[in-house]
Amino acid sequence: MSRFLKLLFRNRLAGLGAVVLGAIVLLVLITPLLPLQPPNVTDTANRFLPPFSEGHLLGTDHLGRDLLSRLLYGTRLSLAVGVAAAVIAATLGSAIGIVAGFYGGRVDNVIMRGVDMLMAFPYILLALAIVAALGPGLLNALIAVAAVNVPFFARNIRGVTVGLAHREFVDAARLAGMSNARIILVEVLPNVLPVIVIAMSTTVGWMILETAGLSFLGLGSQPPVADLGSMLGEARSALITNPHTSIVPGVMIFLIVMSVNLLGDGVRDALDPRLRSGALARPKAVTDVRREGAVPQTPQKGLLDLQELQTQFHAGGRVFRAVGGVSLHVKPGECLGIIGESGSGKSVTALSVMGLVASPPGVITGGAVRYDGTDLLSEPYEGLRRRRGRNVAYIFQDPQATLHPLYRVGDQLSEAILSHHAVSRAEAEKRCLELMRAVRIPNPGSRMRAYPHELSGGMRQRIGIAMAMANDPDVIIADEPTTALDVTVQAQILALLDDLRRERGLAIVFITHDFGVVAQLCDRVAVMYAGRIVEEGRTDDVLALPRHPYTSRLIDCVPELGGGKRRLEAIPGLPPMVDDLPPGCAFAPRCHKARAECTAGEVDLGVTGDRAVRCLYPEDAPKREVAE
Ligand code: ADP
Ligand code: MG
Repeated sequence: MSRFLKLLFRNRLAGLGAVVLGAIVLLVLITPLLPLQPPNVTDTANRFLPPFSEGHLLGTDHLGRDLLSRLLYGTRLSLAVGVAAAVIAATLGSAIGIVAGFYGGRVDNVIMRGVDMLMAFPYILLALAIVAALGPGLLNALIAVAAVNVPFFARNIRGVTVGLAHREFVDAARLAGMSNARIILVEVLPNVLPVIVIAMSTTVGWMILETAGLSFLGLGSQPPVADLGSMLGEARSALITNPHTSIVPGVMIFLIVMSVNLLGDGVRDALDPRLRSGALARPKAVTDVRREGAVPQTPQKGLLDLQELQTQFHAGGRVFRAVGGVSLHVKPGECLGIIGESGSGKSVTALSVMGLVASPPGVITGGAVRYDGTDLLSEPYEGLRRRRGRNVAYIFQDPQATLHPLYRVGDQLSEAILSHHAVSRAEAEKRCLELMRAVRIPNPGSRMRAYPHELSGGMRQRIGIAMAMANDPDVIIADEPTTALDVTVQAQILALLDDLRRERGLAIVFITHDFGVVAQLCDRVAVMYAGRIVEEGRTDDVLALPRHPYTSRLIDCVPELGGGKRRLEAIPGLPPMVDDLPPGCAFAPRCHKARAECTAGEVDLGVTGDRAVRCLYPEDAPKREVAE
């Protein structure tokens, strides 16, 4: 709740709306306690007194009634009727929508055609017809306004419910033997509730206006009782001679509707789960770079060289140090593995290279990323955009999520080519076929016209690789590309990547959490823990003699076929949260060799030859050469 309020008030306008509306609501709640004149007592001797007259702060109307008192009582009535209409419309409409969407089929058809009929009438005309049939009066106006708004809720909520009714958790509830009514109440309703609240908060202002409109026409509140609409209606004849009688209720209507709408927008933004984690803004096209220290000037070691890279997330007053000074390089034709448990900062490191970390909340706060001599972090956006996909391409873990579900895979591949090359469609298509052949997709001609859901996981990942290859990049960063696949397909994909690198001299950065995969593919490996490199070296060396206890424990977690019986060692404990890192070695709390010095101060990366390890007491005996 406090999080919700914080998000709400981050939006200044919504905060203003909340304050104004809060003040108005408070005022009308305490109205009966205020020392006001009675609102309906006429005093013809004091007609049309101007504002700030003795005893009448806002003046009087054409019958000499105190405007301030009428205004507050009128606002009370208008707000109550508008909100009541909104609640009734939302409850009825949502119930109709949920039932229609949940049961579907004939029930849906009958209900929604009825709703469509209501929607076919012009809005205000329908309200007028209802009031005409029921007779004028505030209660009937309320019924009319609620009735004409029911279809709006029914349509919205039905759409959301249809999407939910076929989801797995609803099936699971059915399997558990829950009744339909219970499923609706327990499973569906909580999921549509935010939508209902949002729809309500954005329409309640409109309903207050509609009620005022009916009263203005004399169909709502009846004299002498006033609401804001009827006050305006009565003041109409004196609009020119005594404008204050119209201005007073007019300003109040404006304030209410304005603040309700601003607040409604704010509530919508704050409740939207996609906006909740970040700031209330779309991520920028390139990650923010705010380097605090000097830019490292070490000579470049490979084609792609990350130097002391630091990437943080600034969210909700907390700082997550996802990448805390990472140095890595990769040469043409080389494969560098990055390994570490989930959450160790591998993906964020990879995304930082091309400025793809979502900003806000992501910020690159230090270091340099050099590609063939240029620092990518100081490159302007256009330059970086031209390099994306062309110099450095990405393959992501889940091709289902990165492929657009509604376009054919061939078109998506062509798109990747066309975004960098001014070639004809036919030529792009020809290149597509070549690429699909290169990644060993059988029948590329017919597969081009397939949609992503028609391909198997392995095929989709091949499309992902083909997309990455589309512009002949020099570096490919593969972020756990085989984690979602089964082992046979994984072996094929790894072999494919290995061939591509040997044939084309690609540099590959391969991110994984599986040492088995690293052993198969990578020349060198860097082990990450809590956003830092803890060990780096040639894969053979690291596997034969892991020096950091963390590396050693990671290797112990890999089962070995035919290696005899061996206890698989899980690493006790969990990786630390990166917003609150302990001083010194981050692995110390889980390390069996940790001593007091480990957490006393910074532990440096000790480099000997092509081996680096960040540990005060590294392992020195070769690892498990015999398994009994
Ligand atoms: P992995 O090694 O599994 O790829 P990531 O690089 O995705 O890990 O994440 C590194 C760390 O950054 C994690 O601790 C994660 O909690 C944090 N992180 C990632 N995205 C965000 C975000 N939007 N806001 C805050 N923290 C984040
Ligand atoms: Mg990841």
